Amino acid sequence: MSEHDRDPTPDAETETRNDEPLLEIEGLRTTFGTDSGTLVAVDGIDVTVRAGETVCLVGESGSGKTVAVESITRLVQSPPGRIEGTVRFKGQDLLSADEATIRSIRGHEIAHVFQNPQNALNHCYTVGWQLVEAIRVHEDVPEAAARARAIDLLDRVGIANASSRFDDYPHEFSGGQKQRIMIAMALVGDPDLLVADEPTTALDVTVQAQILDLFEELKTEFDMAVLFVTHDLGVVAEIADRIVVLYAGKVMERGTVLDIFERPGHPYTRALLECLPGRGNEISGIGGSLPEPTAPPDGCRFAPRCPHAIDACHRDGQPLETEIEPGHSVSCVFYREGRDSSVVSPEGPTGVSSDDADEEARSTDD
Ligand code: SF4
Repeated sequence: MSEHDRDPTPDAETETRNDEPLLEIEGLRTTFGTDSGTLVAVDGIDVTVRAGETVCLVGESGSGKTVAVESITRLVQSPPGRIEGTVRFKGQDLLSADEATIRSIRGHEIAHVFQNPQNALNHCYTVGWQLVEAIRVHEDVPEAAARARAIDLLDRVGIANASSRFDDYPHEFSGGQKQRIMIAMALVGDPDLLVADEPTTALDVTVQAQILDLFEELKTEFDMAVLFVTHDLGVVAEIADRIVVLYAGKVMERGTVLDIFERPGHPYTRALLECLPGRGNEISGIGGSLPEPTAPPDGCRFAPRCPHAIDACHRDGQPLETEIEPGHSVSCVFYREGRDSSVVSPEGPTGVSSDDADEEARSTDD
């Protein structure tokens, strides 16, 4: 399914043409050859990121978020991985670019921050040494200048007494400080796009909030866009401009923070929101589990867990995304022409109660 397959309103088209995307992902499909067959981790997703904005990819563990963002700069090992589709960064196709080009973009124009700083830092070297090495890979500068830049970066990411901590080893820093150091590493190349994969998951709630604030500050200071991967809608609410909801390698819904939090259209998005603390469903969570990635359902990927599933949901692949308001689209059969979307979105415009509409949909489904 492509973004071009959707049915945008004229207003939405005008809006998306206002500024050229920094990153355009179209029809990205990443698979892995396994003994049990082809594992489809990401299955034809479209995502755009414009300069200066924060886009969050959100979904459960196993939804394909990490593979999707690692496919952008071809961090997925191939073989067994196979990446198809189009990934354009500043207009250049990264999937067909040669290795030298990808290496020059990776860590420079596009930088990654990963979940566990514990594994990303080398514990045999001081953090200062590691930063200086990273700086000198990017810039041909004398060691003294690289050292000054490293101290400045440590200072900018909030490491107190940066110059005196320069010669400390990773084990002498807390988990939150290590993640700050990893963010400093990512900033070495002055990237236009920072890809952050669950960067706060391993941190306690207080430190998590501090790191999210840091992302916001640095985004402005370094004039970067951020593509942020998380399973936590609470985190998304803090930082996102736009949200793409992934499930089993497919896009279920996309929209602004207000669209998703105030007018969620997809049953999966609604279920994720109900799992937020204080929304009443955090203990039971979403029933069932993700489908086998080597044998996904024929119809909507969410059908085996969806309380509203009807016959039409079990055939003809994932429903095309329907744009229900400018920039807000949903992949669900109940948004097709002639169906009543209030079945899956009870606060919808028809005012039909969920139970009545559900009954009506079942009785009229062919
Ligand atoms: S298409 Fe069907 S199964 Fe999928 S979310 Fe909509 S109602 Fe549920």
